[in-house]
Amino acid sequence: MTLTDSQKRKAKALKPSSIRPAKELCSECGLCDTYYIQHVKEACAFLNQQIGELEEQTHGRSRDLDNPDDWYFGVSQGMMAARKTEPIEGAQWTGIVSSIAIQMLNRGMVEGVVCVQNTKEDRFQPMPVIARTPEEILAARVNKPTLSPNLSVLEQIEQSGMKRLLVIGVGCQIQALRAVEKELGLEKLYVLGTPCVDNVNRAGLQKFLETTSRSPETVVHYEFMQDFRVHFKHEDGSVETVPFFGLKTNQLKDVFAPSCMSCFDYVNSLADLVVGYMGAPFGWQWIVVRNDHGQTMLDLVWDQIETQPVMSQGDRHNAVQQSIPAYDKGVTLPMWAAKLMGVVIEKVGPKGLEYARFSIDSHFTRNYLYVKRNHPEKLEAHVPDYAKQIVGQYDLPDS
Ligand code: FAD
Ligand code: SF4
Repeated sequence: MTLTDSQKRKAKALKPSSIRPAKELCSECGLCDTYYIQHVKEACAFLNQQIGELEEQTHGRSRDLDNPDDWYFGVSQGMMAARKTEPIEGAQWTGIVSSIAIQMLNRGMVEGVVCVQNTKEDRFQPMPVIARTPEEILAARVNKPTLSPNLSVLEQIEQSGMKRLLVIGVGCQIQALRAVEKELGLEKLYVLGTPCVDNVNRAGLQKFLETTSRSPETVVHYEFMQDFRVHFKHEDGSVETVPFFGLKTNQLKDVFAPSCMSCFDYVNSLADLVVGYMGAPFGWQWIVVRNDHGQTMLDLVWDQIETQPVMSQGDRHNAVQQSIPAYDKGVTLPMWAAKLMGVVIEKVGPKGLEYARFSIDSHFTRNYLYVKRNHPEKLEAHVPDYAKQIVGQYDLPDS
């Protein structure tokens, strides 16, 4: 149902920005900062899990539950590893996301790009914008590793009269966007997604940096890498690495946002094109083309990237099974043991797509237990069928 102007005014008047129907599970996606809050009960990823239906609407089919690649990576036409031959300085990886957005704008395929810059005062405080120039897109490069209200700019689209738009975002934002897509009055919507996991609010990020990095105030960029280490890049260009197994799990257990502890859309199922890293060899980005729109978008930067086929090596199952009770008990290894474990697992551990499966399995089992313990009434409807298949491979504690 499309809202009339008077209904929009009424919704806005009724909408103190503190209304968050998903309560503690809210990921601050931004929808509730707009008059589209009218649709929140159907659209919110944490109130109404409808990934299957929205896949059907967006890609023409939902996941094939007989195909394990579909359980893990979602509907796709193809996957590859890629990197820019001339990386963008200061991008999170090589800047494939920013490059695609710039091409789409320069070629007139879209009139604006929803992306996230940071505030002047704080490099990690997200500031969603509709970029209309390549400079504004570039100013949004690099992850703001905090919950970001990307959809808060949706009202501006209609007000500006824009008809062709690219939205860059993570899974929970894109699920809500797809649910209200038909209300936006657009002729063309393109969606460029990134995977996302373990996000935090700004205070949680500070705690994570202070607990984990030797110099929290100089961190400009960090990533949980495929070599089982967190890589922190500092202002002076130095890189600090901390093995996953050395993280102070007991102190960090509550740092991740409850929304992220109950999320099963790590791989951004509803984007046209997904650009991450976890299914690719170290140093490369991982590309998942979900539909024809996604292929069109990737083609725009084909002459700026080198590619290689995805590979898969190792067997994640034992490592995942062992991590379940270890995480539950908040086990933290002494640093020497964590470093040793990191070296061993890097040599013999899962690689390529198997690393991506390792990460998905570890997070889905943890999140399944979180929802079961904290929101048992939501468990059945909130966990998608593909996630139930993934979790079902492991022995979980009864309570
Ligand atoms: P760039 O060209 O640097 O562009 C980055 C884009 O990200 C910008 O357009 C910006 O608008 C957008 N962005 C920045 N912060 C946010 C935010 N908080 N919410 C929404 N959009 C944002 N990939 C994996 O494979 N596994 C992961 O576990 C994983 N976790 C991630 C967690 C977060 C919070 C984010 C934002 C991304 C994550 N990614 C993950 C994706 C990966 O880190 C890179 O963002 C991706 O590969 C694109 O790199 P790039 O150099 O092409 O991006
Ligand atoms: Fe609203 Fe988004 Fe929070 Fe759901 S996650 S309550 S749609 S702001």
